[in-house]
Amino acid sequence: MDAYSSQITKLIETLGSLPGIGTKSAQRLAFHLMNMPSEKVAAIADTIKETRNSIRFCKSCFTLTDRELCPICASEKRDHKTIMVVENTRDLAAYERTGKYEGVYHVLHGAISPMLGIGPADIRLTELMHRLQQDITELIIATNSSLEGETTAMYISKLVKPTGIKVTRIASGVPVGGDLECIDEVTLLRALEGRIDL
Ligand code: ZN
Repeated sequence: MDAYSSQITKLIETLGSLPGIGTKSAQRLAFHLMNMPSEKVAAIADTIKETRNSIRFCKSCFTLTDRELCPICASEKRDHKTIMVVENTRDLAAYERTGKYEGVYHVLHGAISPMLGIGPADIRLTELMHRLQQDITELIIATNSSLEGETTAMYISKLVKPTGIKVTRIASGVPVGGDLECIDEVTLLRALEGRIDL
């Protein structure tokens, strides 16, 4: 039986479909929202809608942004000759939190996975190769240390080697199978500093 009105149940289910939000959290959020003044709820809804509508991919690194070029690619303070390859925008955010990386990024939006039928053409590899035609001194591969992340790293390394650009891989301070976004900044920095040539 539906303990609440079907509309509230729908809200709980909708919130519960978000990552990291279980049924109890979804219930708490739903009732919290229902007790808020309606203008405040409308403001939250508007922010979500406006952000979603204005978001796009940076035309250089393909991270999510609301501008043509993300703030990192647009910054003159960054070293545009060093590119760090990450699987997703969350991994980029993890490295940005260290505050120590001065290069730019390239977001693949996934990793090669023969098991899941994700091939090289399904991630932003063509765009990466295109960027490498510019004056680039180092490509740091910071994909996750999962099977997919390692497969992707090897694939990119083979692809880039003939260009003569230095290719490095972040050190294995990052636990096997670990998601970059869950790892603390010190470990991330150690992995970056201890990177090895591929
Ligand atoms: Zn960018």
